[in-house]
Amino acid sequence: MQGIKEKIRAIPDYPKPGIMFRDITTLLQDARGFRKTVDEMVQPLAGTRIDKVVGIEARGFILGGAIAHQLSIGFVPVRKRGKLPWKTLSQEYQLEYGTDSMEIHIDAIQPNENILIVDDLIATGGTAEAAIKLIRAHKGNVVGCSFIVDLPELGGRKKLEALGVQVLSLCEFD
Ligand code: IMP
Repeated sequence: MQGIKEKIRAIPDYPKPGIMFRDITTLLQDARGFRKTVDEMVQPLAGTRIDKVVGIEARGFILGGAIAHQLSIGFVPVRKRGKLPWKTLSQEYQLEYGTDSMEIHIDAIQPNENILIVDDLIATGGTAEAAIKLIRAHKGNVVGCSFIVDLPELGGRKKLEALGVQVLSLCEFD
């Protein structure tokens, strides 16, 4: 069987010239690839108590939902501004040009809950950092951030580790 990394499609110049987009849909559409991905994203945390999975919009929903089901725990979405229907807490984060914000429902996380954050890819770490701040604002403990892909040159892993968060990833690209 091809490895997880080999099943990820590279799309040059998407969404704009000069960007190499890592497309995980080719991994997810493969039954064994999807299963192996979910297993490997949680395996290093075996023995750690996890109360909820927080998935980051949008591909973090696909992975986070599968992981929460596998662990028989709840799932919480962190979404882009204006998408959640109930009262939210917002956290701004830096984009290449300007800022945006991520939101979480105010009643989604309880104090002292152990939370695993899930997304498909970490680049600068700005999106995941916003999710960490939202969880910590509710006094939740972030026990780890799990990604399929790490782009180490963009520094996201170091940014999250400096916040005291364990970062897991299944593969890296330059
Ligand atoms: P960061 O905030 O710079 O770490 O960017 C990570 C966010 O952007 C994640 O939610 C990713 O889904 C998305 N992202 C950035 N680059 C890529 C890519 O090449 N493939 C898939 N998602 C990406």
